[in-house]
Amino acid sequence: MLSDKDRIFTNIYGVHDWRLAGARARGAWDNTKAILDKGVDWIIDEMKKSGLRGRGGAGFPTGMKWSFMPKEVKDRPHYLVVNADESEPGTCKDRDIMRHDPHLLIEGCLVAGFAMRAHAGYIYVRGEFYNEAQHLIAAIKEAYDAGLLGKNACGSGWDFDLYVHRGAGAYICGEETALLESLEGKKGMPRLKPPFPAGAGLYGCPTTVNNVESIAVAPTILRRGAAWFAGIGRPNNTGTKLFCISGHVNRPCNVEEEMGIPLRELIERHCGGVRGGWDNLLAVIPGGASVPLLPKSICDNQLMDFDSLRDQKSGLGTAAVIVMDKSTDVVKAIARLSYFYKHESCGQCTPCREGTGWMWRVMERMVTGNARIEEIDALEDVTKQVEGHTICALGDAAAWPIQGLIRHFRPEMERRIRARTEKLAAE
Ligand code: NAD
Ligand code: SF4
Repeated sequence: MLSDKDRIFTNIYGVHDWRLAGARARGAWDNTKAILDKGVDWIIDEMKKSGLRGRGGAGFPTGMKWSFMPKEVKDRPHYLVVNADESEPGTCKDRDIMRHDPHLLIEGCLVAGFAMRAHAGYIYVRGEFYNEAQHLIAAIKEAYDAGLLGKNACGSGWDFDLYVHRGAGAYICGEETALLESLEGKKGMPRLKPPFPAGAGLYGCPTTVNNVESIAVAPTILRRGAAWFAGIGRPNNTGTKLFCISGHVNRPCNVEEEMGIPLRELIERHCGGVRGGWDNLLAVIPGGASVPLLPKSICDNQLMDFDSLRDQKSGLGTAAVIVMDKSTDVVKAIARLSYFYKHESCGQCTPCREGTGWMWRVMERMVTGNARIEEIDALEDVTKQVEGHTICALGDAAAWPIQGLIRHFRPEMERRIRARTEKLAAE
């Protein structure tokens, strides 16, 4: 269990002042100039040694991503872009960072921007997060007024400007290259990768796109040292992590815990347990809607980190833990997610555009049992034709929850089909 002294987000519920004075009292903007004075190479090296893996869902090593930026600014400016388009169902951690601790993010933008030799940063905020955007704008103004941003930011000799850009409510704009398209004023449609943004990103210039939490933890890592962060959690899965726990628990919450905490401990310690007790658990989606669900038998001993969950053919994703007790119609729950992905597909690649609709329609029939048993295999086959055959990860995200359902709840799908067939035969 994470001790209070190791918590980075000490105002996650907004009990304290989110403005500059309150943030400073909690340690933000402390010694920022000294961090910058240590230079780009030291910062990137520390970030690598900390083991921080991207908190947006994919878990790509953050220090390594920063190191992909060109070493010198030549013909094109460099940009930092913060992905604050948090839209993954079940996920609400970046929202609370922006609401209650915006200065941690702003300080992180300066440090990250400096490390990637960017003079400008953009925070792309989910359109629905109106109040969060207002807090960010107010906090950025405070930072400018205090000399922490702008010309000679923090007295470092580095000029750094930070802008807030509000999205317009499309899930796909959280995909980093769709986000860049949208920021450029175009329709938010993912680009083919490579090139990755460090080679050709915003306006075709070297760009790094990072999640809010990844950027907001950076100053504390650099203040306290990579070894401190790397000493929390498990090898290759280090540090603290914000978990968002929702669904059938007694007290849904956002909480910062150590990576690798057992799922059961996370739920029982922080959420008052599963509604009706642990034995009433049916399944958990451990990392936001895009990752496959796990049945109770696996949840009993499951650790919450990237590698442990990957070993179960699931994922940590955004660490949004969606708990389902035995009252849940699990087939209907996954069918609802299928509808979500069909609705949010941008439609530019055929397997996703056609596949998401097809999978949703079949899933709707699976809910009522209006299908043949062989169609379960056909459905699984189509998920595999979508997975890995699309421009962006939305295709995978649409396929994986269905694969998880078939893997763990196939007997329930078959039961419904048989029950309906028997009912029709009896009529
Ligand atoms: P990805 O694995 O393609 O990329 C992750 C990051 O690493 C990107 O920034 C990418 O540019 C970089 N990267 C990967 N390989 C690279 C290479 N060879 N060279 C340089 N850079 C490289 O994953 P993704 O599509 O960015 O993200 C998928 C994840 O997003 C899913 O797992 C899901 O959990 C998550 N997600 C999050 C939200 C949210 O609201 N936070 C919403 C939807 C999905
Ligand atoms: Fe668009 Fe889907 Fe293709 Fe992604 S996978 S680019 S959302 S059609």
